[in-house]
Parts: sequence; C-alpha cells; structure tokens
Amino acid sequence: MDRTERYEKLVPLLREVLVALGEDSHREGIERTPQRWADALLTYTAGNEVDPKEHLKVIFQLEEDDLPIGSDDLIMQDHIEFTSTCEHHIAPFHGVVHLAYIPNPESRVITGLSKLSRVVDVFARRLQVQERMTQQIARAIDENLRPLGVIVVVQAAHFCMVQRGVQQRSSATLTTARRGLFLTNPDLEARFQNYLRLRVRPKDD
Ligand SMILES: [Zn+2]
Repeated sequence: MDRTERYEKLVPLLREVLVALGEDSHREGIERTPQRWADALLTYTAGNEVDPKEHLKVIFQLEEDDLPIGSDDLIMQDHIEFTSTCEHHIAPFHGVVHLAYIPNPESRVITGLSKLSRVVDVFARRLQVQERMTQQIARAIDENLRPLGVIVVVQAAHFCMVQRGVQQRSSATLTTARRGLFLTNPDLEARFQNYLRLRVRPKDD
C-alpha cells in the first residue's frame, strides 16, 4: 500500500474514531481533523519505508596512519533529538540519543556524522518501544560499519505516561544497548560517560 492508499483508508476510519469518542465529526473545529490526523500518523511512521542501510551506505575509510592497529578511540555523537511514537498508546515519546562507536582499525570504516542522526530518525519514525529502538540503532551501526564496539543511550519522556499521570514530564526513561568491546570493557563506557560530561554547552544552557 502506498502513502496515498493508506491516507484514503485512514481518513474515514479516523472520522469513526471521533464519532466513537462522542464528537460530532462535522463540527467546524474538527471537520478536517481526520485528514490532518491521517497525514500526521503517516509522517510519524514514515520510517517503516526506509532501510537504515540507505543512510549508512556512504561510508569513508580513514588512512592506515590515522587509525593505528590497537586503537580503541571513540567516535561519538551526543544529544541527537528525536520524537517517536509509543506503540502501546500511539502517544509521543521525546528525548535524546547519545551514541559512540569504535572504528575497526582493520577496515578503518567510518560514516558521516549526520548519518547517525538519520539512522536515529529512521527508527524513531515508527511505532516503537524505547528499548527496541535503542537496540535497533545499535544493531544498524554494528551491522553496517562493523566497528569494534557500539554504545547507544536513549533518554526520553513518554507522554502516554505523563498525560495519564503515571510519570512526570521531567522524569526520563533511560535505555542502553551495547555491542562488541562495550560489552566486555567497562572502562570504555566510563570514557563515554566522561565525554558526555565534557560536552561544550551553549552559554544560556
Ligand atoms: Zn505508551
């Protein structure tokens, strides 16, 4: 089913949802809500159609001299913002991803930094649970770049919980995924956390 077909199918169904909620679905304020809602839902789930490989296809190779054998240096990107949709309540969860990988000195493969944000975006634009999204990001980096190790940390507030009063807005859910050396060497995770603290902050932060 393409986007147009999905949209056509969704609009009358969503109008039914409004009716079931007790609304007059032709009331002026919500007359066009099924159309807007359908469009929004398709945007929130557009990542279903994208293979994260697409974003990790353009890879670069460091020179042999620049990545000596034995190196366990990190490439890190922090505070990648995302908004995803909780698959249990179809409500947003919003937060940040911090991630790092250790390029393999044998292959010396790295990727453009913007690609890591794109990979986060692909998985965020799906119906998700935070734990799975965290693992999927780690696996995509692991499988495509074949680094020595990957770590992904996700912090998020879940509006299904905030709105139902189960969680406060300022409270965050934290999930982690580790691959390779990060599973066996706790010093690497300590280094990752140190770098997170080193982050250069804007003055008004
Ligand atoms: Zn939920």
